[in-house]
Amino acid sequence: MRGILKYLPLALIFAGASLLGAGPEKDPHAAPKATPPSHPATPPAPPAAKPALKPAPGVPTPAPEVPAPDAHNVHAEPASVKTAEPAKEPPAATPNTTTPVAIIEATTPPAPVLPPIDAIDGTLTADQALAALSEGNARWVSGMPANPASDAARRQATSTGQKPFVTVLTCADSRLPVERLFDRGVGEVFVLRVAGNIAGAHEAGTIEYGVGHLNTPLLVVMGHSKCGAVAAAASGAQVHGNVGVLLAAITPAVERAKRNNPNLSGDELVAAAVKENVWQSVFDLLKSSSDLRQSLAAGKLKVVGAVCDISTGKVEFLGEHPWQSELIAAMNAQPAANPAAHAEAGEGH
Ligand SMILES: [Zn+2]
Repeated sequence: MRGILKYLPLALIFAGASLLGAGPEKDPHAAPKATPPSHPATPPAPPAAKPALKPAPGVPTPAPEVPAPDAHNVHAEPASVKTAEPAKEPPAATPNTTTPVAIIEATTPPAPVLPPIDAIDGTLTADQALAALSEGNARWVSGMPANPASDAARRQATSTGQKPFVTVLTCADSRLPVERLFDRGVGEVFVLRVAGNIAGAHEAGTIEYGVGHLNTPLLVVMGHSKCGAVAAAASGAQVHGNVGVLLAAITPAVERAKRNNPNLSGDELVAAAVKENVWQSVFDLLKSSSDLRQSLAAGKLKVVGAVCDISTGKVEFLGEHPWQSELIAAMNAQPAANPAAHAEAGEGH
């Protein structure tokens, strides 16, 4: 028989309380804005996302111990076994069978076990959800994902209903595998992906479902580096078919990035436009959805922006829209907005 690899089991308990306080904080009231604009002009840069101060749960730190050779693998003659007759001739040279043969296989760290987030469904706060995403992203970036909630048992357990803990709107770019980026699994992330992470009526309706019916306490609107949709809008590319509809939604953000960063061009301009486009989508969602505004006002929802660097997988959380409170107040005072009119949002300022 072969030796049995023995690992120290990782007792990993998802401690909800430990997740508190990891979300970026800022003061949206700090933005000097007497009258909210018809679109979100470049907001002051929010504080950088606070990096995880502790190792991500589930990241194994000790290398697995090399298993001790099993007695059955020691091909040695027992010392007590001797022939009764003394050898009359010098024993012939024989292969050395007294050396233990330790079969040491190449091992990989044992997969840490993380419980699904919905195990504490109903008690998870937006900041806890944000911390879970940050910690999962740290595992992804480090190359040591835990792949939680991804086995057959999880699939079976979620077959009767879903309880995701976060709604994410991001780009359709194939380099943004959302669950893998955040190292979460089945039934945990309610994902919308559309080129340029724009927020038209269909996206707003889907997000209202995630927030209003599935009760996710957190909405993340995530752009990414090297976004082709934003780059196309920035270059004024001539496109065909329905792609033009997408670019029309992104163009206001690009124009704002150009106005606010007249010295930028190329990749730097696209990077600035990516962030502007995140805020544009947040603005469009708030403007078109009284449901989302009500959820925010009731403290049932937090909406944050984010940008993923596709070269590293690192997600930078941007916090809430700097003018969120002012925007909501102004929007609530106006008639219901036309969700399809968000392309106009960037031209009034
Ligand atoms: Zn993209």
